[in-house]
Amino acid sequence: MFRSMDRGRLMAMVEMLGTTFATRGMKRHVEELRVYWLGLARGLVPAGRRVDVGWSESLVVEWFRVLRLPPHQWDYPVRPPSSPCPRCPAPDGHAVEVKTGLTFPEGRKAVCTVCGYAWLELEADVRAASVDVRRRAR
Ligand SMILES: [Zn+2]
Repeated sequence: MFRSMDRGRLMAMVEMLGTTFATRGMKRHVEELRVYWLGLARGLVPAGRRVDVGWSESLVVEWFRVLRLPPHQWDYPVRPPSSPCPRCPAPDGHAVEVKTGLTFPEGRKAVCTVCGYAWLELEADVRAASVDVRRRAR
């Protein structure tokens, strides 16, 4: 399913993600990612394999999607907070359960517990400003 990418490309994505985490004050993520980066840099992480620090290539891509970094900025749709699943019908007004996949400073990734459909929910003020996020980032 998940195709392993070139190490140089993965490291560039890790660096980009680390900078983005730092900009958003996500210190624990920055620290973990730094260990993962060192593992990659010294060849301690076999291609496509996971390190104990809890980071993997697929998680790097997942965070690119969640934080809407190119080229993954359109992978998940953005919907208002507490949205019901758009795919599952809501019998008697009770929407099917939605769980939180990942949280980040300005919102969360929501996942439908029935069909697995995923989307992002952002705070209202962030939604309005999100178009400019990349330009404001250093
Ligand atoms: Zn659903």
